[in-house]
Amino acid sequence: MTSVEEALRVIQSKPEGVLQSELWKILNVDSRKCSRIVKKLIDTGLIERAEFRKEGIKTFVLRAKKRPVDPCQIMAGEELIPCVGCDLECNVIECHRLLDWMYQLAICEVEE
Ligand code: SF4
Repeated sequence: MTSVEEALRVIQSKPEGVLQSELWKILNVDSRKCSRIVKKLIDTGLIERAEFRKEGIKTFVLRAKKRPVDPCQIMAGEELIPCVGCDLECNVIECHRLLDWMYQLAICEVEE
């Protein structure tokens, strides 16, 4: 299981939400990597994040979205957006995986 999938399962298992400041400890990753994981989950519409203060320190509470994700937002034909489960150091502008997926998406839209 990738860190992104694991994070999603942890968040989905707690309807009251998970503090981002605790999630990285649960996942056993550093806070920077946790921020990237959280960003991917937010960008793909799987979770939502709200500001939260714990003992005067600002953090975020993360909750799984209850509505199902529109598959059109994360699927190109049969292919899931590569960002889900990606552990690469992210550079969106130069990412060939994402570019290939976007070409696939464009082809699918032309064919419809
Ligand atoms: S490296 Fe590419 S595939 Fe991975 S998260 Fe970034 S944009 Fe997505």
